[in-house]
Amino acid sequence: MVSLRLQDNLTTSEEESEPLQARLKSLELENDHLRQKIELQSQENLINKENRSEAEKRLSFNPVSGLPSSYQLKHAIGGLSRSVQKKNGGFAIVIIQLDQAFAMLRKSLKANISEWLLYQIGARLTEFVVGRNRLFHSKDLEFILLIEKGNVVDYFDQVLKLISQRLGEKHIFSGFNLTIRANIGVAVFPQDARDKSKLLSRADIALGAAIEQKRQIVFFEEKLEHQVNEKINLLNALVRGIEAAAMEEMSQQFELYFQPKLRVSLDDDGQPTLQGVKAEALIRWNHPDKGLVSPMRFIPLAEETGLILPMDKWVLYQGIAALRRWRDLDGFEGLSINISAGQFQSGDMVDLIEAILKQETWLKGKLTIELTETGLFEQAELAQSMVKRFRALGVKISLDDFGTGFSSLSHLHKFRLDEIKIDQSFIRDFPENEADRAIVDSLVQMARDLSMEIVAEGVERKEQVLPLMQRGCTNLQGFLFAPPLPEKAFLDFLEHHKKGQAILSL
Ligand code: C2E
Ligand code: CA
Ligand code: CA
Repeated sequence: MVSLRLQDNLTTSEEESEPLQARLKSLELENDHLRQKIELQSQENLINKENRSEAEKRLSFNPVSGLPSSYQLKHAIGGLSRSVQKKNGGFAIVIIQLDQAFAMLRKSLKANISEWLLYQIGARLTEFVVGRNRLFHSKDLEFILLIEKGNVVDYFDQVLKLISQRLGEKHIFSGFNLTIRANIGVAVFPQDARDKSKLLSRADIALGAAIEQKRQIVFFEEKLEHQVNEKINLLNALVRGIEAAAMEEMSQQFELYFQPKLRVSLDDDGQPTLQGVKAEALIRWNHPDKGLVSPMRFIPLAEETGLILPMDKWVLYQGIAALRRWRDLDGFEGLSINISAGQFQSGDMVDLIEAILKQETWLKGKLTIELTETGLFEQAELAQSMVKRFRALGVKISLDDFGTGFSSLSHLHKFRLDEIKIDQSFIRDFPENEADRAIVDSLVQMARDLSMEIVAEGVERKEQVLPLMQRGCTNLQGFLFAPPLPEKAFLDFLEHHKKGQAILSL
């Protein structure tokens, strides 16, 4: 159809045929260009494919012994388990690890001699690759044999005895002889496990026991797994115990203070009224000689040295402990804690909070993380995924000291945040200072557009309250209401400030 019409056009009008031919020419050129591009692309694909199969080949074999590597192992286990299952047979996974003495010896041997030794060991083990048996050089000093079960009752015992004999034979060099020892762990399909990963890990458990008990060959038994699990549990408890002791120790010098953050609204008479109270946890250090040291002095130091990690952890534990104690308090709506940028980005905090929330689901919605712009914008993509993880857990995210960073605030919409806190520096001279009024106006507007709560920090004077609220600021924090307080004083504050109270007459 199209070509007919083109033909018509070409014959009917001379003037039109010129540009049309030019268009066709350019189409042809475009076509050529496209074709070249496609050819190039397919060549690239071919090269990539070649590279891939080259890389796969390299990964599939150990360069020293030339034997198949662990890359092929799981596939082979799967294949063998399927074929023996058909005949109601079985097979053993035999992990052979050359012992520490060889590892030590290697350091004093020339590289080519130790490589030769490894090659020799591989060659000796290859003698056991008959029928469907397979051999892998799985790690530097580790080989794995898959041995199909024979008809003799104690077939595996006999084969393993032969393997151990063959491995124990001297390696003869001009001028010296060497005997290499190995530990061997065995798990048998199907009785020890049917699943290939489980079977491998059980052979590994048996190997661990062989090394630990200084025995040459150990077959997997259930009790070995119990022992390993017990050891892991003990280790976890040990870490927790040491950590608990360290946290306890910190509590000797550090204390958590709580500053009320008031949620307010204007009542029918235009009076600012209390709706609820949240708290911000702020750390205090009581230095044994110097007395109270400001966090402005020691937090930067802790950040520089990495000590912020245990410190933020301590704050989190103490904060959660407080939340637990205040669980049923009337009018109390949640706690926020400050997290340093590095801690936030490292993911340690989110992992920790995730583990805690698994046990204590009631914490959902009660905890807020306060972050500065650096924490959020410095590595935006990483931060974005962290924000997602926190919010999925029911932890709220608040942007602290808002307006002080130099990052582009247009990035803000990329994050789903719950709250922004206008920095004290914009509140100090508010409402007298015109520039501060304009800044507060635009920050409140932005928070509204992005459906976030907004908090004014550093409210010190009564005259600031109404103008802030009239501009749409519904959360207030500052010395006017209360400074950061020790727990008891904070609970007193809660006791005396109830929902519906007019906040300016307090
Ligand atoms: P921030 O998170 O902006 O905390 C607010 C700071 O303002 C607190 O100082 C608070 O005492 C003070 N403040 C509150 N209301 C007023 C007011 O009306 N007027 C004035 N002038 N100041 C007010 P603080 O406790 O000395 O903490 C300073 C900074 O140290 C915090 O700033 C925060 O960045 C950091 N910090 C405090 N505790 C922790 C913590 O547990 N972990 C981490 N990572 N940082 C913390
Ligand atoms: Ca804060
Ligand atoms: Ca702040």
